[in-house]
Amino acid sequence: MNVTAVKHDKLMLSRLQLFRNVDLNSAEMDQLLSHCDYRQMNEGETLLSLDVENHYLYVIVSGRLAIKLGPDEDIPLTAIEPGECVGEMSVFDSRLPSVQVFACEPSMVLQIEQEVLWRMVSASHEIARNLLYIMSERVRYSNLVVADSLEMQRKYQQFATIDALTGLHNRGWLDDVFEREIRRSERDRLAACMLMIDVDHFKNINDVYGHAAGDKVLIAVAESIRRPLRTNDLVARYGGEEFSVLLPETSVENAVGIAERLRERVSEASPGEIDGKELPKVTVSIGVNEFKPGDSLESVIASADSAMYLAKKAGRNCVRVALNS
Ligand code: GH3
Ligand code: MG
Ligand code: MG
Repeated sequence: MNVTAVKHDKLMLSRLQLFRNVDLNSAEMDQLLSHCDYRQMNEGETLLSLDVENHYLYVIVSGRLAIKLGPDEDIPLTAIEPGECVGEMSVFDSRLPSVQVFACEPSMVLQIEQEVLWRMVSASHEIARNLLYIMSERVRYSNLVVADSLEMQRKYQQFATIDALTGLHNRGWLDDVFEREIRRSERDRLAACMLMIDVDHFKNINDVYGHAAGDKVLIAVAESIRRPLRTNDLVARYGGEEFSVLLPETSVENAVGIAERLRERVSEASPGEIDGKELPKVTVSIGVNEFKPGDSLESVIASADSAMYLAKKAGRNCVRVALNS
């Protein structure tokens, strides 16, 4: 650190946000400025740390500083350009700095000790006004950062519940909505059913046409299942080539009808072609199980799964109901 007392360039100072419209030639301001120094900073040098008290407002005169939320953060939050200030928050509230500030290139800052700053505020309404402006800019910026991170959080949450291949919801999401649905069916005393859908002989597709072809078939199957469903029905890719559908307010009889329709749609759909080769149509086996009050997702899935195995045993491309439904 290199601190030098220099004669102030008033024209340069008048361009800084803090001194906008301030009469820098008044005797009082001249006297206050004589207490302010310039600090020359090397690249990488720290100006504010989370654990070191700060008693200065710094105005960046040249170079560029960067703000990080902590010493271990790799990516700076933002850069501070000439004319902007740092340190005002810890001067105002006498608490430790809330961010880490360092020079990202050789820089010079004007440092104003807190007592001198308060005397400047008493001497000039314009300085008080400029400080309020600087603070409101800071608050506005923080609000934008919060809004951005909420938006990111929302996106990540969405990614976490969506299956990337088919665009259907995934198993984690099903865990969450199942709790809500089972409470609803208990409260409203309405039947609800679960379908477990498994593609027949899917391994053959991968073996004969390759994994990319298998993916394409899964996308086509997902679409054939999703499209005929009602908006209230909840569909998820449960695992590899297995899908589950939760049908609220649906009796077993109706669930079997819906399952038959899905089975038919899948068997009729053409998955398209790959490398000029037409992909074969596939079929699915479906197990149906009705919820009972107090059922857990595991038990509902297990029963729907065992019904699906009955369908496999019965020759595939058919629908079977769980024995306990
Ligand atoms: P079954 O009629 O008895 O259900 O026979 P199957 O061949 O469908 O069943 P199996 O469980 O033997 O094979 C499922 C295959 O699905 C094995 C696995 O490699 C494949 N698979 C799982 N996830 C994916 C995926 O995301 N993409 C592709 N292409 N294949 C997948
Ligand atoms: Mg399977
Ligand atoms: Mg299968």
